[in-house]
Amino acid sequence: MYRTAGKRLYRCNECKRGTYFSKREENRAGRMRCSGCGSAQLTVSAEGAEKQIMGLDARREAEAQVERNGSGSVIPG
Ligand SMILES: [Zn+2]
Repeated sequence: MYRTAGKRLYRCNECKRGTYFSKREENRAGRMRCSGCGSAQLTVSAEGAEKQIMGLDARREAEAQVERNGSGSVIPG
């Protein structure tokens, strides 16, 4: 089981294998290689990026609710 939190999925243009890279790995140019064939022809997966954005939004929304009602309780509906 891989821990993928905070990582983005990249898909290899050559063998289509998906590989997760952390922000730190993304910043290190030349370190991002396909885990399958070793190719550097990687494209960031829209699916992975979307999941990360949704996660951030959900956390922001939860924090906003705590600010609004002064407690951690979630009002249904
Ligand atoms: Zn590959």
